[in-house]
Amino acid sequence: MSVEPIVEHSPKVADEVKKTTCYMCACRCGINVHLRDGKVRYIEGNRDHPVNKGVLCAKGSAGIMQHYSPARLRSPLKRVGPRGSGQFEEISWEEALTTATGWLAPIRETDPKKLAFFTGRDQSQALTGWWAQQFGTPNFAAHGGFCSVNMAAGGIYTIGGAFWEFGSPDWDLTEMFVLFGVAEDHDSNPIKMGLGKLKNRGKRVVSVNPVQTGYAAISDDWYGVTPGTDGLLILSLIRELMLSGNIDVDYLRRYTNAPWLVIRNPGAADDGLFLRDDDGKPQILDRSSGKPVASNSRGAAAQLQGEVKLDNGAVAVPSFMLMAEAYLDDAYNPDVIAGKVGIPAARIRQLAADLAEAAFAKEIVINQPWTDWKGEHHETMIGRPVSMHAMRGISAHSNGFQTCRALHVLQLILGSVEVPGGFRFKPPYPKPAEVHPKPAGRPDQVTPGKPMAGAPLGYVLGPDDLIIGKDGAPQRIDKAYSWDAPMSAHGLMHMVISNAVAGDPYPVDVLFMYMANMAWNSSMNTRGVMDMLTAKDDETGEYKIPKIIYSDAYQSEMVAYADLILPDTTYLERHDAISLLDRPICEADGVADAIRWPVLPPDRDVRGFQSVLLDIGARLGLPGMVNEDGSAKYADYGDYIVNHERKPGIGPLAGFRGENGKAEGRGSPNPAQLDAYIENGGFWHTEIPDAAKYYKMANMAYQEFAVEMGFFDSPQPYDFQIYSEVLQKFRLAAEGHGEVQPPEHLRARVKQCFTPLPSWYPPFEGSAIDEDEFPIHALTQRPMAMYHSWGSQNPWLRQIHGYNPMFLSQTLASKIGVGEGDWIWVTSHHGKIRVPVAVMEGVNEHTIWTWNAIGKRKGAWQLDADAPEVKKGFLLNHLIHELLPPKGDGMRWANSDPITGQAAWFDLRVKIEAAAADEPAEVAPQFDQIASPPGLTKPEAMLRYGLEWTKSVTKQTKKGQ
Ligand code: SF4
Repeated sequence: MSVEPIVEHSPKVADEVKKTTCYMCACRCGINVHLRDGKVRYIEGNRDHPVNKGVLCAKGSAGIMQHYSPARLRSPLKRVGPRGSGQFEEISWEEALTTATGWLAPIRETDPKKLAFFTGRDQSQALTGWWAQQFGTPNFAAHGGFCSVNMAAGGIYTIGGAFWEFGSPDWDLTEMFVLFGVAEDHDSNPIKMGLGKLKNRGKRVVSVNPVQTGYAAISDDWYGVTPGTDGLLILSLIRELMLSGNIDVDYLRRYTNAPWLVIRNPGAADDGLFLRDDDGKPQILDRSSGKPVASNSRGAAAQLQGEVKLDNGAVAVPSFMLMAEAYLDDAYNPDVIAGKVGIPAARIRQLAADLAEAAFAKEIVINQPWTDWKGEHHETMIGRPVSMHAMRGISAHSNGFQTCRALHVLQLILGSVEVPGGFRFKPPYPKPAEVHPKPAGRPDQVTPGKPMAGAPLGYVLGPDDLIIGKDGAPQRIDKAYSWDAPMSAHGLMHMVISNAVAGDPYPVDVLFMYMANMAWNSSMNTRGVMDMLTAKDDETGEYKIPKIIYSDAYQSEMVAYADLILPDTTYLERHDAISLLDRPICEADGVADAIRWPVLPPDRDVRGFQSVLLDIGARLGLPGMVNEDGSAKYADYGDYIVNHERKPGIGPLAGFRGENGKAEGRGSPNPAQLDAYIENGGFWHTEIPDAAKYYKMANMAYQEFAVEMGFFDSPQPYDFQIYSEVLQKFRLAAEGHGEVQPPEHLRARVKQCFTPLPSWYPPFEGSAIDEDEFPIHALTQRPMAMYHSWGSQNPWLRQIHGYNPMFLSQTLASKIGVGEGDWIWVTSHHGKIRVPVAVMEGVNEHTIWTWNAIGKRKGAWQLDADAPEVKKGFLLNHLIHELLPPKGDGMRWANSDPITGQAAWFDLRVKIEAAAADEPAEVAPQFDQIASPPGLTKPEAMLRYGLEWTKSVTKQTKKGQ
């Protein structure tokens, strides 16, 4: 008798659903976690959540496999073998915390700088930065220095915010969207949703990227720019728009510093500074009176041309005149730059014409009255519907800061920032550099046994704010805010290990890191960094970095190089605050924040890192973390999230504050706050009033809303900074003015690169090597299914990207006689790797590329020693050095942007050749296998997660019954 299954069409899927925040990438979408029998049954997007509105990506769905990964660390560990071997023994939390405290307490009392505390892509920098400040060390930063600080700092110094977390395109109204460079993970779902809206509305998507992959694959126009020349292309577009008169003069006059008067006094200490009145207010030339008046004068009509004679014989002109002088230059003529940028002149001119048409021929007018900060009432809001986005693609070059600034200037001359259809800020942005704190860490701000006088990270406004000693020496271990990288707003995490090992500017005693895979994909010169982490002092035989504490949830490559491991939870087992004090998740129309909370209890002896950090802080007696009687102030991170106040009424979460939980933004701590968030779906959201939704930098209704919410204590309106006086101050110092001047060997570089108007110079690596020997650019792109190294241990995501080939154009492949599946050697000035090949169209003819961070070291992440990620997956990092080749004088410059210190990953130049036919089909170099820490389980040979539930919903029954 035959038997056939009857499928139950409405099976019981979950016992309960808990709403929290995804952490499979940095976007922080809302998720509904369906739980059954105490396990995760599946994860879906939260339809009410402001970030993703129900959308879930492949990574988010695969969070189940991240949560149950066999690579999860299971208990605190103490190193018992040599560093790098991966040999550990399990210890108790008490022993781990006593050990950490025993290492940290003496240095806090003697020299707190001896602690270098750096975190990777964590989402709790408001806590970690505050902890570092309370400890008293200036040596704190997160991963921004090797990620996209050029984009972030370029944005803050120019328009008061940048892309992604700071703002987004006005997807509903924009007519043309231009995406520069790779940006697939910054951000992910929100951009995909936005692109979907544009495609549905039939609007134009333009991509400027050496590679036509990711979002570029669905663009209407693709410009395959040569890496590192984006700035040149952008300045050429600016030239074309200025020449054709396609600029928004009214917008430039009202909302930017284009009319501010700049002193022209060559050779003098005030050359290039703004003309200011006795109150320090910048001056503009008023058309009606013909006289200079304060830039915020009510009713003044600013001129963009003209000249004011000064008493000392100098003159002052609107900065717009300097723009015209700089950008109408033939150096930016499309005919002149076409060869260099790899795009025909006619296409550059067409792109400029398309931008102009979208901005001006398709002007939007919204009948919404509003009042600006200069007191003028407007009946309408005028929109220039061109929007843009960029992240690491244009910023990871040694000319990235100026390129990012140039991109914002392009937006500004089109009048398309913070207007309908353009780029819009997300609260608490916009927030110009002047409103941010300055960094602390100078010798007079660091005192043993005491908190530092301010936060370690901030925005400098000139040479006087640098974190250097009286002798000009760097004071931070990463040399951030020194003349090496004066405006390094996110620190230089990629330089910490090499500087500490070199003892330059000084050695450290404890290196404390969280979620930072520095022994693998987060470092340049990967083998060199592994050697540094194991380097010993010749005389003492001790490690040059004596103690390394590391916290992570997984057995990453870095784990093997630590002495003490503090195992973190997965994102489903912990509390987190997605805080306005940190990196916000707001949307342009509303303010939002969110939480994570333990939707499942840990089944291992692990603790959330933030709770552990607070525990260590309490054991060290750090102010703010202990009560008067010395007892711990917070039970754990959840307790801190509810009860910590950064200043009265302002805490990590802005929603459900006050005694009755009804206050928003400001309000006393509410003991039931976390419950209120959980009840609300894991987030809080409030809408910005209609009259405050655009022109936020100048709109008094928004400024008052921002004060109400606690973003500022008083309104902070401002003009966008096309011309940067901050950069000019550094340049004046290089010319010999002021007390604080760069060392001789850096003067010429500061003079060349710190131009007050965005400029372009060739990327440093290309200038330092023989371009005939290394004619090819090599890049990574971000796969949408992986977030850095996080995904390639995930069995579901590994099926999408199990290994990474090097993609070559057919032209390049033919040139060296290889085809799909062959192997090649790729050589840079620093190293050599053997990699598999894939051939594609849609790539700049001088460029090869691969996916980022797929390759894994043998033995790491609990992957099989023969896993494709080990045998056919590779890192480009092996080819990139943190220093450029030696110059004629023997000196080696950092492979970084000279302004912010951002790691110049994408300056890499290589040559390629076919591997010999008898060579093994395996990537080179290979590294020794690292041992698995004790207690980790082996991955299942055949994964069948969820099979038990599949059986339970399918009944066997007799045919006909
Ligand atoms: S985009 Fe990022 S945060 Fe959103 S669901 Fe995907 S992985 Fe999660």
